[in-house]
Amino acid sequence: RVEITDVSKAYGANQVLRDVSLTVEPGQVVALIGPSGSGKSTLLRTINHLETVDRGSITVDGRYIGYERKGDVLHELREAEILRRRTQVGLVFQNFNLFPHLTAIENVIEAPIALRRQSRAEARSLAEALLARVGLADKAGHYPRQLSGGQQQRVAIARALALSPKVLLFDEPTSALDPELVGEVLDVIRGLARDGTTLIIVTHEIGFAREVADRVVFLDHGEILEQGPPGQVLHRPRHPRTRDFLAKVL
Ligand code: ATP
Ligand code: MG
Repeated sequence: RVEITDVSKAYGANQVLRDVSLTVEPGQVVALIGPSGSGKSTLLRTINHLETVDRGSITVDGRYIGYERKGDVLHELREAEILRRRTQVGLVFQNFNLFPHLTAIENVIEAPIALRRQSRAEARSLAEALLARVGLADKAGHYPRQLSGGQQQRVAIARALALSPKVLLFDEPTSALDPELVGEVLDVIRGLARDGTTLIIVTHEIGFAREVADRVVFLDHGEILEQGPPGQVLHRPRHPRTRDFLAKVL
């Protein structure tokens, strides 16, 4: 369970998140939509503590990722502890971010060996299963440059899953892909949703959000203006700014 409570964040004078509160229950799929610059990526990055927050708090299954509470005050943890806790939250970026000098399977086993002290054999057998799950059983020995964008993104998903995160965050996972490769990545995400993985997905694929999300959240100028079931937010939006946004992207 991800619990975001009254989170605010500014970069200098630019107030990027304003009192954002959002709870995601285990197994839920939340689609986060909103205009460019509305704070979607920043919100995702605060969840796994790639960004600090100015106010408010975020917990995953009741625990902070980057902080510990002492009395009423949150103190930032040491880097090593943050890295360990961050494994609870998987993040898949737009641009795959695979290690170019490692093969697909080496990309997947790297974190479990480094952060979870798994044996190489153990990590490899898990990685093989994960690559099979994303449809890449036969590509384990390929380097990223030998893979299509869609295949690279599926390796990135397998890599995120290798740490068995409690929640998986996707930041526009298909927006860097050629149109014909979008479907294979969405299929994998669909499968994760079906299997009960907790997902928060920033996406411009409104049709996909409608189909896969339990809840759609509309962020504008760092504020959640509206959230609810896809049918409501996407088809009967209450807020004029949601209507404007949907009119532009649909
Ligand atoms: P997009 O749809 O274009 O990806 P977004 O909703 O993900 O947009 P963010 O990337 O979260 O938006 O950015 C929100 C605001 O914060 C923008 O005004 C951006 O310029 C600013 N911003 C983001 N990251 C930083 C940073 N590291 N330093 C300063 N400003 C930043
Ligand atoms: Mg973004």
